[in-house]
Amino acid sequence: MGLEFRSQLDDAWYDARIVMDGYDRLRVKFIGFPDDHDEVFDANNLTSFKDIAEFRRRFRPVSVQVQDNECPQVAKGTLVCVAHAICPDDRRFYDAVVYKVLHEEHRFVKGEEECPCSFVLFWRHGPKAGCLTVQALENICRVQPRRNKMNPLLTSFLETAREKIEITLSKICATPHEAAYDEKAYRPSVSQRLKQDTSTSRRPSSLISSLKEMNGNPSQRAGHGSEIEGVPHMIIIDNLERGLSPLKIVEFIYKKVSISCEAFVSP
Ligand SMILES: [Zn+2]
Repeated sequence: MGLEFRSQLDDAWYDARIVMDGYDRLRVKFIGFPDDHDEVFDANNLTSFKDIAEFRRRFRPVSVQVQDNECPQVAKGTLVCVAHAICPDDRRFYDAVVYKVLHEEHRFVKGEEECPCSFVLFWRHGPKAGCLTVQALENICRVQPRRNKMNPLLTSFLETAREKIEITLSKICATPHEAAYDEKAYRPSVSQRLKQDTSTSRRPSSLISSLKEMNGNPSQRAGHGSEIEGVPHMIIIDNLERGLSPLKIVEFIYKKVSISCEAFVSP
């Protein structure tokens, strides 16, 4: 099944295909357009997981023109991709949601069914974003659900971007860990050491149990040792499950307790 790509230039959806352009660049080629319309993306420019997710959302299976006899499928609340005429011979496609359908009896001309119904649409993006307009069925395409299995080139490109972010994160994560344990850089006072000793005496046995404890005790969420000014707050967790990467830990903690943190895994 073909790909549809939402251009960064005009935010419209186009039929497209993708090719790799070197190791970490992806070239999007627009079907029916010359090469100078290509859009090229560098994995190094996707610097966060949000960037990756947003870039991935720019691709989906090609939307399908709704046939006249399929009119009942375009019901209130349906997400559709709709042609918008920028000028007489330039139609661009943007997403809209069906707000209301004004049904009329279908005609048959030379055995062909014709849908004269009108569709009131709420545009989600594009020049008419936020507006309601009335459209005929001939301008409406059905948006196809995204599949879990993506185009292998896109999967590979996003994986490259993800690996680059993980490498950057692991470098960042390593820095405060080393700083906190460098005795020359950090010599806690006796009272600080006592506070640390108390808190580290209850080391959780796994990441999961540690997070459950944090969830159940709001005062701990602020962090033990948070009284020590200028030193990053740190939790040490033993017995990690195999294969846990710093990235997975960071994502898990953020999901569970909405705390942005850094993680470092040591053998
Ligand atoms: Zn109809």
